[in-house]
Parts: sequence; C-alpha cells; structure tokens
Amino acid sequence: MSRAGESIASRWQSVQREIEIALSRRPKNWNHPVKVLAVSKGQPVETILEAVAQGLLCFGENYVQEALAKQERLLHEVPVDVTQLEWHFIGHLQRNKVSRVIQRFHLIQSIDRPSLVVELERQMAKANLNLSPKSQRVLIEVNLSGEPSKAGVSPQDLESLAQQVKDSPYLILDGLMTMPPHQDSAENSRPYFKRLAELKSLLEVKFHCSLPHLSMGTSQDYAVAIEEGASIVRLGSILLGERQGRQV
Ligand SMILES: *Cc1c(COP(=O)(O)O)cnc(C)c1O
Repeated sequence: MSRAGESIASRWQSVQREIEIALSRRPKNWNHPVKVLAVSKGQPVETILEAVAQGLLCFGENYVQEALAKQERLLHEVPVDVTQLEWHFIGHLQRNKVSRVIQRFHLIQSIDRPSLVVELERQMAKANLNLSPKSQRVLIEVNLSGEPSKAGVSPQDLESLAQQVKDSPYLILDGLMTMPPHQDSAENSRPYFKRLAELKSLLEVKFHCSLPHLSMGTSQDYAVAIEEGASIVRLGSILLGERQGRQV
C-alpha cells in the first residue's frame, strides 16, 4: 500500500487518481466533492510541511497536546498563510482536555457522548467568546460494529445525541463520522459506509436540515467510502507514509 521512501508528491498523485476513479463510479446526480484530510498523528512537522508544499491544507490529529504543539510550530514555519490551514480533531476527546480544544479546530469529528457536549458548552461559555457563540463545527462519531473497544455512539443513541448538539447554543452539527472495524478487504467496509449514509439521511429527515459531511474511509478503504458518499476521507499512511510515533 504505502511504500517506504516514496515521496508525498507521488503518493498524493496516486491517491488523486484513485479518488477520480471512485468519483466516476458514483451515481451521476451526486455532485458533492471529497475533501482529503491528511491524518498527521505520529508524523513530524517536517512531513506536514512536505504535504503543505503539495497543496494539502487539511490535517487531522488524534491527540490534543501533539496537535497544539504542531499548530504552534507551523504558525512560524509554514510557507503559506496559516489561516489557509484547516485542523480537524479525530481522536478520543477526554473531558479534561476539552478546554484546550476550544477555537483550535475547524471541525471536531469525534463527538461520542452527551457528557462531552455538556463539557464543550461549559468551556465555550467560560471562554466568553466574542464571536457568534454557535461557532464550533462538529461531527458525531458512530460505532456501527458494536465493538466495545471502538469509540462512537451506538446507532440507537445517535438521535438523542444529535438532538442535544442541534439544541446547543455553541455547536453546529455538520454530519457523521465512523471508523469501521479492521477488515482484510476494503469491500468488507462497504456495509458500514452504507449504514452511516443511511443514518445521516434519517437525521436529515428528522431535523429537516441537510448535513454536509460524511467522514468515512481511511488508507485501506477510502475508494469504497467515496463510492458510498463520503465527503471527507481521512488518509494517514497511504499519503504521509508510516507513522513515526507520538510527537511531543
Ligand atoms: C489514524 C486514523 C486515521 C488514518 O488511518 P490510516 O490507516 O493511516 O489512513 C483515520 N481516522 C482515524 C479516526 C484515525 O485515528
């Protein structure tokens, strides 16, 4: 899949070819684009800079401390206007880290429980934002396999969590995210992606709104995810190479 020593430029070229093929397999009336999130957890800042040089501007991180340290360094080192960079939080968000993520991420993709919503609201109220308070975009992470080791809300509890986010004076519900169990073949992830798309449609009907994002598909199965309607694919190793371990 990802070959050691290959440059990010050539990796990005092959990923773009795969994305074009997957897009061409979609029903013709689907015209929403796909955003590529480069998952930079475990990658040094130098790798992020190499990716930025290739025009990749959206990065996903799993650990708060690692993410903030990189944001800080890139503020000074990135050769483009830093406001062009987009950071997404995709890891498990612990309650005691919530105060540190406020206003730091364009999208928090891993909202998975009511207590996390409450804590986000509490910290945003405390931060006394001068902006429009409804400013933090989020996705709800859904656990479709029922494996207890996986993050995410169960499909049964999704609607009430979505209602809580919709009612929040601080949060904007942008859609759903999922991470299916590891599969030997990408094709085996397809039922999970179909199910997430269905759940998004159900919420759209329920709340009379349109939710822009379905974040699904990683290095091993992003082409299948795109065929099933992904609007964000989260690509780590296939794009940036093998991870080098926790930075910071
Ligand atoms: C690490 C991670 C990814 C990227 O995984 P790859 O297999 O390297 O593409 C995507 N999504 C989440 C939630 C992750 O934690």
